[in-house]
Amino acid sequence: DSAAFDREVKTVCPYCGVGCQVSVKVKGERILYIDGAEGPANENRLCVKGRFGFDYIHHPHRLTKPLIRREGAPKEIDVDPANPFTHFREATWEEALDTAARGLAALRDAHGGRAVAGFGSAKCTNEEAYLFQRLIREGFGHNNVDHCTRLCHASSVAALMENVGSGAVTATFNEIEHADVAIVIGANPAENHPVAATYFKQFAKRGGKLIVADPRGQVLARHATHMLQFRPGTDVAMLNGIMAAIVQEGLYDAQYIAAFTENWEAMRAHLEATDIDEMSAICGIPAETLRAVARDFARGQAGMIFWGMGISQHIHGTDNSRCLIALALMCGHVGRPGTGLHPLRGQNNVQGASDAGLIPMVFPDYQSVADAAARARFAEIWGVENLDPQPGLTVTEILDAVHKGEIKGMYILGENPAMSDPDLTHAREALAKLEHLVVQDIFLTETARYADVVLPATAFYEKTGTVTNTNRQVQMGRPAVPPPGEAREDWWITTQIARRLGLDWHYSHPREVFAEMKRGMASLDNITWERLERESAVTYPSLSPDDPGQPIVFGDGFPRAEGRARFAPAKFAPPAEEPDADFPMVLTTGRQLEHWHTGAITRHASVLDALEPEATASLNPATLARLGIAPGDPVRLTTRRGSVVARARADAAVPPEMVFMPFAYVEAAANILTNPALDPWGKIPEFKFAAVRVEPA
Ligand code: SF4
Repeated sequence: DSAAFDREVKTVCPYCGVGCQVSVKVKGERILYIDGAEGPANENRLCVKGRFGFDYIHHPHRLTKPLIRREGAPKEIDVDPANPFTHFREATWEEALDTAARGLAALRDAHGGRAVAGFGSAKCTNEEAYLFQRLIREGFGHNNVDHCTRLCHASSVAALMENVGSGAVTATFNEIEHADVAIVIGANPAENHPVAATYFKQFAKRGGKLIVADPRGQVLARHATHMLQFRPGTDVAMLNGIMAAIVQEGLYDAQYIAAFTENWEAMRAHLEATDIDEMSAICGIPAETLRAVARDFARGQAGMIFWGMGISQHIHGTDNSRCLIALALMCGHVGRPGTGLHPLRGQNNVQGASDAGLIPMVFPDYQSVADAAARARFAEIWGVENLDPQPGLTVTEILDAVHKGEIKGMYILGENPAMSDPDLTHAREALAKLEHLVVQDIFLTETARYADVVLPATAFYEKTGTVTNTNRQVQMGRPAVPPPGEAREDWWITTQIARRLGLDWHYSHPREVFAEMKRGMASLDNITWERLERESAVTYPSLSPDDPGQPIVFGDGFPRAEGRARFAPAKFAPPAEEPDADFPMVLTTGRQLEHWHTGAITRHASVLDALEPEATASLNPATLARLGIAPGDPVRLTTRRGSVVARARADAAVPPEMVFMPFAYVEAAANILTNPALDPWGKIPEFKFAAVRVEPA
């Protein structure tokens, strides 16, 4: 009913990395409903989260005033759900900001800057992410600042940076329109990137060969030419088998390899020595199927590879991505229409927050902190003498350093490590141990319950600022409604903290921050705030003030020495923790269509919470029968880290030896169970594989 709203605001969906543009219909100060808008990634389409998951904005538990922990209140996660604020008292902004900054400064002054670390957020704007990393680097003199990319695509980015020279996608997902073959591996886009999945289905409908590879079945399999349900944790074996078949049958693109790559001889030798039957036995996919997939992908005129957390969240996550990069390169499937490498980004702004420097090893635009020229560039922009050349600690390393007593204070903006980190008991103990914790968020998240000071921030529909989606599209976010109570935008809060730490910051609008970012980020060349206000989205790189941006990159070489991408052979290695007699099954965790990550937002969204109201553990019906568990019964899951109880769900897509749990539910937090073992390059935990015991509760 168009008469019901009094204004509509075009902005961006706050959930996944697809970055759908939305038209928010507002009456007074309330959002009535949301429609899809004509954005470059979504062309008016939306999924259930984008369309119906907005009323968290108006939830009565939104933080509306700064909070300070009551004297002596215990640091614990179990608070009264009806009144979660009992351990805190309300404060003025002045008192809360002074207390927050004074506590952090006291630790810095007593123990040195490294006693304080920061987690930023992929839920904030580019400008807010940029300010946060600047605050830690300038205000505390080191690089111990990270965000959820560490738990997401850190291993993909490590492999891409190493072998392609850039961590971003080489082509937008919409390029699948021009492909004739595509691989979707370790991703479940129908649940996690639903609007992107609509393009994949259309591709299959018009005859494109869609190869889906995932240990768990999924909706996209219905549209697939091949569904490879391989054994969990055996990605490298399966991909080596496919690539070995390409070499054996001489299907590789020798011309492309000669023109644009290096280290092919080592790669070919590695694959010639690979026994396809042995790889088949490890991954559980028949050798003939591996050969058929190899032929389909290599003979395609234009092929794309999409991947997600199923690839990245392993101790061999970087090796998994190295294989995917090699597969695309050997077939010449990069740099042309309908070709490309595309790690599907999770959060709505994980690409932008990473670009903006929320990473411990790099400044904005992935400029290494170890590079003297990069340090000099940002020292000049920020007006400081020196910047630390030592790469900082990552998310899980920071919490380990808290346990060791090396880090004593944290500033956490919009992240929820009390739900998102592996081995949550360890992570929560670290949060409780901090001498001073400042949390900035929109709800009293599980992490905020450990805070000394809680600063009420604005939700995305209340913000002004830019975000960058999985397609490298920088988009303008516009406020649809005012923030509730005294909640303030994150850029304002961070600026206030910085000033109280003695930094000479004078921003009065995010556009000033964006202008400063452009001074140090070549990726933003030709992209101005005014352009984004006018055009709503520009893809980087943009080659001129009129260029809407390049959907495909690296057609004429790569940003590496001599313009060549690199082959990096990888050998199969087993997961960190294999099933045994005590823990005989495999636990894998992930998201589901209706809930977003730790549930901080979607469990406050009434429609989404009604659709999926409780924690479930999905098992194959045959496994449930074997264990004497009926669907709907409580089931206990136990690993070497801990134990949780959830409701059993029968799901034939889950293989008999596996159990799947989403990680959005605090009452059965899946990450109590997960293994913190890290990939050595990306430092990403092995969320996708833990040995588990399942029994009736
Ligand atoms: Fe939002 Fe992603 Fe759904 Fe689009 S696909 S509406 S960005 S959650």
